[in-house]
Amino acid sequence: ASGRARVLVYDPLLHAGEDDLIQFRSELAKALGEGENQLQLYYQPIVRLSDGKVTDREALVRWNHPKRGLVSPGSFIPMAEASGLIVPLGEWVLRQACADAATWADNVKVAVNVSPFQLRSERLTSVVVQALDQAGLSPARLAIEITETAMLGQEGTTSHTMRQLRELGIEVVLDDFGTGFSSLSNLCSFVFDRIKIDGSFVKEALHRRDCAAVIHATVELARQLGIPTTAECVETPEQLEFVRACGCSEVQGYLLGRPEPAPGMFTQMASLPAN
Ligand code: C2E
Ligand code: CA
Ligand code: CA
Ligand code: CA
Repeated sequence: ASGRARVLVYDPLLHAGEDDLIQFRSELAKALGEGENQLQLYYQPIVRLSDGKVTDREALVRWNHPKRGLVSPGSFIPMAEASGLIVPLGEWVLRQACADAATWADNVKVAVNVSPFQLRSERLTSVVVQALDQAGLSPARLAIEITETAMLGQEGTTSHTMRQLRELGIEVVLDDFGTGFSSLSNLCSFVFDRIKIDGSFVKEALHRRDCAAVIHATVELARQLGIPTTAECVETPEQLEFVRACGCSEVQGYLLGRPEPAPGMFTQMASLPAN
């Protein structure tokens, strides 16, 4: 309906009534503004296959809603994007993730998901620099995960921002590879440090030849470009062996570790008893 050569993502949440959206917006604004500890970051390890070491932890946001309980990002990120709150939410995530990572004794990198809306705003680079400075975290310890759809139709702004981030020494990762619409052209015109193969292919790889073929082809393409690949959603030892045989260099998934609140986070969130 909006014309030719346009790709729109349908999400039922975006069709929530206007009242719902207004209420949601005020609840999320409150969660962001009042420091009620409703928002929390969970961390999931990314493991290097060559030596079994954790190289990164991916920050995954959770909303502990006072009435609805733990709300998953799959449902509130689209609402945050629709209501414009994704920008302050994304800034909170960046600041919190950098502050958490600064407390990790093992010096593992922290990987942060960045919404297309953040990537398109001129502010992203300065927000990232500020988060690193405040936390005292080296740029070499931050990875930014960007989905393919983030680049659609916005090649000018996004490639400029991505270049700036990489020049600072921050790793830029292409997330959910294989689910977008312009995969190959994106790979050729943007430079990424790493590619994450979407979990949907990994989950089906042992039953479906097409999914297995996508993984094989992606790893080979990335290898030709000199970029390592990470396989998501590895749940079984068989899937692990499959992606290893394909040549993936890192893995992430329930088999290696579920997303969990970081111990440092608990310390910060606990209210200290008054003496
Ligand atoms: P994603 O970036 O692709 O993150 C991976 C998702 O897969 C996470 O879901 C993770 O919990 C889940 N996962 C990891 N291992 C396994 C596995 O072995 N099996 C299965 N079935 N699932 C696994 P989660 O935490 O619900 O996040 C969903 C999506 O929400 C993320 O997908 C990401 O796109 C978005 N998201 C999460 N946190 C943020 C954030 O801080 N900012 C933005 N913009 N988006 C976020
Ligand atoms: Ca991600
Ligand atoms: Ca992903
Ligand atoms: Ca995904």
